[in-house]
Amino acid sequence: MSSERHEQLEQMIDRSLAGAGTPEEELLVEEHVDACEACQEYLSASRRAIAGLNGFSFEAGPALNAKVAAAIRLRARELEGRRANARRWAGMSVVALVLTLVGSVVDLRVGHMAAGLFDLRPMEVRQGLLALWIVPSFGLLLLFPMLPLLAAKRYGKGRML
Ligand SMILES: [Zn+2]
Repeated sequence: MSSERHEQLEQMIDRSLAGAGTPEEELLVEEHVDACEACQEYLSASRRAIAGLNGFSFEAGPALNAKVAAAIRLRARELEGRRANARRWAGMSVVALVLTLVGSVVDLRVGHMAAGLFDLRPMEVRQGLLALWIVPSFGLLLLFPMLPLLAAKRYGKGRML
């Protein structure tokens, strides 16, 4: 028996196991497998593989689907949480920006008035505002966008998803 013939027989066995073999092929396979140990082994190995696949598709049923669904839900919640964090950081950045702008406006508008009231020179008021308000709020403005990056760096390690 040539190896080419065995290959043909293996293809017939495949078709037969898939339920796609012709009656002639079924008969040929049956006769050949009875006489040929190699093809007998191929047939039983194929049957085991198919049984294994059936077992897998059974396991991949409700239990695995539930696991997959739970994993997807968890991932969705994580992404949602990350978006909420991003919104929170963005909100804080806006607050810092507003503080900076308000500080600048106060500096411009109230500077001269305050100078008049407290008998200070405008430059002194300006320097006071700059030190007490504008610089700290500008610092916040710079800091807030950095925090999510720092947090991501700290917690991101070994947590690839
Ligand atoms: Zn054979």
